[in-house]
Amino acid sequence: MHTKVIALGRAEKPSDGFSAQTVVRGPLRTTVGRSRRSSGRESRPYHVETGESVELSEIIRESLAAFGGRAVFAQDQDYGEASHAFERSVRQFPEAVLYPESAADVATALRAARAAGCTITTQAGGHGASEDLRGSILLRLDKFDHIGVDFAKKKALVGAGVKMGALTDALRGAGLVPPLGTSPDVSVVGLALGGGHSWISRAVGLAANTVRRVELVFPQGSHAWVDDQTDPELMSVLRGAGGLVGVVTAVEIDLAQAKNLTGGSLLFPVEDGPAVWRAARYLHAPDPLSVFLASTRMPDEPYLPAEIRGQHWISADAVSLDGDVAALGRVRDAGTPFADSVRAIDVTEIAAITNDTREPGATRQRSAFLSLLPDELIDRLLAWHRTDAGAPVMILGIRPLDGAMAREDEDHKSVVSTWGANWALSGLAPHAPTEEAARRACDALAELERIVAPFAVAGGIPTYLDSAQKLEQALSPESIRTIRSVRSRLGGDVIRPQRL
Ligand SMILES: Cc1cc2nc3c(=O)[nH]c(=O)nc-3n(C[C@H](O)[C@H](O)[C@H](O)COP(=O)(O)OP(=O)(O)OC[C@H]3O[C@@H](n4cnc5c(N)ncnc54)[C@H](O)[C@@H]3O)c2cc1C
Repeated sequence: MHTKVIALGRAEKPSDGFSAQTVVRGPLRTTVGRSRRSSGRESRPYHVETGESVELSEIIRESLAAFGGRAVFAQDQDYGEASHAFERSVRQFPEAVLYPESAADVATALRAARAAGCTITTQAGGHGASEDLRGSILLRLDKFDHIGVDFAKKKALVGAGVKMGALTDALRGAGLVPPLGTSPDVSVVGLALGGGHSWISRAVGLAANTVRRVELVFPQGSHAWVDDQTDPELMSVLRGAGGLVGVVTAVEIDLAQAKNLTGGSLLFPVEDGPAVWRAARYLHAPDPLSVFLASTRMPDEPYLPAEIRGQHWISADAVSLDGDVAALGRVRDAGTPFADSVRAIDVTEIAAITNDTREPGATRQRSAFLSLLPDELIDRLLAWHRTDAGAPVMILGIRPLDGAMAREDEDHKSVVSTWGANWALSGLAPHAPTEEAARRACDALAELERIVAPFAVAGGIPTYLDSAQKLEQALSPESIRTIRSVRSRLGGDVIRPQRL
C-alpha cells in the first residue's frame, strides 16, 4: 500500500503518453488520440468520438441546461486530463466529466444520465479506479471542499472533494487524528466509502466505522443526511460500497484523540526480515499503537536515486496516539536498524512516515486476509521476495487486523468485515503501462497468492482491491445481496454498478 520513494513516479513518466489506437465497441467507434503530457497539459484532444457517442453527448449536453458547474466532453481539449484516474492501469472513457458545484447540480447530472440512458459514477482521485467508464457520466466533486471541525466533540464534517492531506492540515496541532491511511492524496470519502484501513484502525476500527452520518444525493435526486437511526441498512452499504447507492456530498467522521502522537520508521537490512517480522507478529501492543510491516524492493532502474536504486529493506512503520511505543523495543532489538525515526510528531507528519508516491502510475496489487502468520510463511514470503520471481512486487506489506477491528461494532454496521482474519497482506507492483510489464506484475502477484493460499481466509477490504477485482473478492455473498437490495430499494440503476 505504500512506498518510501517519491521518485517512483518518474518511472511512469516516459510511458505516460498513450499511443494512438482505435477501439471498436459495438456500434460505437472510438478513436483514441495520442496524448503527450507537456507541462501537465494535453497537447491536443485525447479522445475523439464519432457516430452514436456524439449523439449521446448531445443528449447529455441538452439535459444540462440547469447545470452550474464545468462540463467536459470527449471532443473538448481538456477531456484527457479530466477523464484520467490516478491509477493508470485503467483507461477511462466516460461520456462526459461533470464538476457539480451544488447538490442541485448533482441531481441535474442524474437526470441527464437517465435522459441519455447512461449511468453515473463518482470519483475523487481515482486511486481506486477499476473500469473504463464507457456509458457513464463521471462526476468529480472537487468543489465540495469544505471542512468543519468540532474540536470539543472530536468530529469532522468533510466534503466529498477533501483529500486526507487537507484534513490533517486543518487538524494541525489539535491533538486529533482522522482515519488516514498511508496516502495524503486519497479523499476522506473515497477511503471511508471503501472500508479503509488506517493508522488508527486498531484504536477505532476501519475508516468506514468512524463514519457517523453521510450526506447523500439519492439516485432519484433528493438530498439528505443519513445515519444509523434513519437507515441502518443504507449506512451499512455506505460503509464499504458507498459509491453504489448514490452520490455522497459529505461525511461526518469521528476523530481520535492523540494525547502524545508519536510515529516514525525502523528500517532494517533485508537479512533481518525474518527476525523482525517474527518479533512484530505478537507485539501485544496497546490499541493506540499501529505497526505496519513491509519488505520494500526497489527496481534497479537508472531513474531512481543511487541510494535506493536496486535496494531492498525491511521496515516497521509505527504510529502511536498516546506515545506508548515500548512494544517497539522488541522489534528494534530483533535486528540492526540502520534508521530509526520514531519520535513525537504532529498529525501533518504522519504521511511522511511511509512517504507514499504522489505521482499517478500503473499498479497491480493483491491482498489477502490471513488467519495465521507462522514462521514458515514469514520465511517463505521474505525469501521469495528476494528472488527474481518476486522482484516486480515493490512492496510486500503486512498489517494487523486486531484491536478495535476484532470487536463487533453493533451500532455502526458495515458490509465490510474483518472477522476471522488476523492479518491483511498486500503486494503492490507498480509497472510501466505496457502489456508486458503488467503481465510480469500479475505473474508475480499470482505467485504471491499461491504462497499465502494455505493461510488465507475469506474477506477483504474494498480499498485494497486491484483494479481488475470485483467486490465479491472482498465482501461476503450476504453483503453483496444487501448492496443489491439497497440499490433496488433506492432505484439505484442509474448508479454504475462498479465492481459489482
Ligand atoms: C498511495 C496509496 C496509498 C494507499 N493507502 C491505503 C491505506 O493505507 N489504506 C487503505 O484502505 N487504502 C489505501 N489506498 C487505497 C485507497 O484508499 C483507495 O484506492 C481509495 O478508494 C482511493 O480514494 P480516492 O479518493 O482516489 O477515491 P476514488 O478511487 O476516486 O473512489 C473510490 C470509490 O469511492 C467512490 N466514490 C468516491 N467519491 C464518491 C462520492 N462522492 N460519492 C459516491 N461514491 C464515491 C468511487 O465511485 C469509488 O468506488 C491507497 C492507495 C494509494 C494509491
